[in-house]
Amino acid sequence: MNEMSRPLVLVVEDEAPLVTLLRYNLEKQGFRVDEAGDGGEALAKITESPPDIVLLDWMLPTLSGIEICRQIRRRPATRNLPVIMLTARAEDQDAVRGLDTGADDYITKPFNTEALIARMRALLRRAGTVPTKNRLGFLDIDLDPATHRVMRNGRTLHLGPTEFRLLEFFLRHPKRVFSREDVLNAVWGRDIHVEPRTVDVHIRRLRKAINGPGETDLVRTVRAAGYALDAEAA
Ligand code: CA
Repeated sequence: MNEMSRPLVLVVEDEAPLVTLLRYNLEKQGFRVDEAGDGGEALAKITESPPDIVLLDWMLPTLSGIEICRQIRRRPATRNLPVIMLTARAEDQDAVRGLDTGADDYITKPFNTEALIARMRALLRRAGTVPTKNRLGFLDIDLDPATHRVMRNGRTLHLGPTEFRLLEFFLRHPKRVFSREDVLNAVWGRDIHVEPRTVDVHIRRLRKAINGPGETDLVRTVRAAGYALDAEAA
């Protein structure tokens, strides 16, 4: 599996031994892992390098897991971000269940890592971010990673290799806003030095390649934030 197709998990947890354990098991299962020890750090990381899923501890210093979850749901870019809440047995399970936290699922500590990973995969599959052999699609665009064929509205599109990878990246995270840095890291890789402006050049080429006359521009420019694959372009 290449770097780009491995789902990124943000673990928001203040108990270091649990973070170490989760990182070890998740990486073994093909996830990339990012960590945050409190709410401020979590929200900053979600903005800087958007994860595919968040494991969120309920009891955290400063902001509680519930408050972090509410903030995630409030932001348009992360409204649909899958969140699994980690709770301790001592916490009132009925309260956890009954509260409108906005979390997609929760798991009680101590938990079995395999059970957690199974739930994560189910959520990711629902969110469409688990890599499959299937085609990737968004509205009238269709990309087949196996054959590298891209179609829009029934016609074949001709993309350069970088534009193809850009489109594949956006199709794996539709409607999510990515900064130029995020795009650079995902499409070019962290080890390669490329000027952020290079992203703009390739975005322009991508637009030219995928948008036919009279068709909706599917690449949205978000002022001071970056780009997203989205139909509400104008
Ligand atoms: Ca805790």
